Amino acid sequence: RLILAVESSCDETSVAVVEDGNIILSNVIASQILSHQRFGGVVPEIASRHHVEQVLVCLEEAMTEAEIEAEDLSAVAVTEGPGLVGALLIGISAAKAFAFANGLPLIPVNHMAGHIYAAQFVTEMKFPLMALLVSGGHTELVYMSEDGSYEVIGETRDDAVGEAYDKVGRVLGLAYPSGKEIDELAHLGEDTYHFPRAMLKEDSYDFSFSGLKSAFINKVHNAEQRGEILSVENLASSFQASAIEVLVEKTVRACQSYPVTQLIVAGGVAANKGLRTAMEYRIKQELPEVEVVFPPLKLCGDNAAMIAAAAFSEAAKGNVADMSLNADPSLLLGEKN
Ligand code: ATP
Ligand code: MG
Ligand code: FE
Repeated sequence: RLILAVESSCDETSVAVVEDGNIILSNVIASQILSHQRFGGVVPEIASRHHVEQVLVCLEEAMTEAEIEAEDLSAVAVTEGPGLVGALLIGISAAKAFAFANGLPLIPVNHMAGHIYAAQFVTEMKFPLMALLVSGGHTELVYMSEDGSYEVIGETRDDAVGEAYDKVGRVLGLAYPSGKEIDELAHLGEDTYHFPRAMLKEDSYDFSFSGLKSAFINKVHNAEQRGEILSVENLASSFQASAIEVLVEKTVRACQSYPVTQLIVAGGVAANKGLRTAMEYRIKQELPEVEVVFPPLKLCGDNAAMIAAAAFSEAAKGNVADMSLNADPSLLLGEKN
């Protein structure tokens, strides 16, 4: 079974062809990062324009690379939300047109479910499982008792962790998005500043990153005023140590309280080397029976292959949309199935 998927929720236009939910025949990703970099973040209007220019190019390229014809496909999947409404609409329009023209069913997919199902490209998902979703817009612990069932047991009360990475990166003068660069700098320094570990002691699976961000910004600004020079590597290392400790400890606790066989860490921040190492180490220590799965590095960020993987599970449940499908910028996990 071949699924063609379209993803356009933010600043990547992507089209993929995936077989049986876990074999990638093509996964074309057109990133717009260079166009947004000088604004220090994603500008929705610019994102929409790029998607319009790129979506058909990506679609053709994905079909050519997969060496298939439209009649070989069994369905078309598309990101319904969450994301930027204008950006989502372009992927949805293209997917609808392609599905209609070729008489194929249209499968709506939640972008965050896509991030989780990227794990399918590493190993089969085994339920019940816990997913730690860490990305530019989300920081959530999601318990999945079975395929397609989502219970958000904790989430950020303010900034997402990826957002915090990007904001402190900006203060350091790094290019957007700065998560990867901070990760690299962090490995060259040490946790000398001991920023707060927000909500670590609290009996809740919720997170908060705005306090860490403020502590970081204050440290840098105070030093600037006094003419002190701080080590960028130690700042990055201290920030990352605080963020990772909270993510890891809360995830370990969640996995101790729920009967999980697998832990999936997904989303753009799942590419973080420090997080990968610390999570694997702590889970091995506390819960050696739990299998820790990180999607391949290239599939942690936004891509359409992950949307196809999630669509494969949606298709099995018979979740199909008609031509009235609309973008849902604030779609919640499990809201529509
Ligand atoms: P969402 O998925 O919540 O809608 P998004 O799609 O914009 O948001 P992703 O593309 O999943 O987010 O992830 C992008 C984020 O991942 C950015 O904030 C980026 O800085 C961060 N990121 C990427 N690589 C790393 C890394 N190695 N360490 C930390 N953060 C990283
Ligand atoms: Mg992105
Ligand atoms: Fe994403």
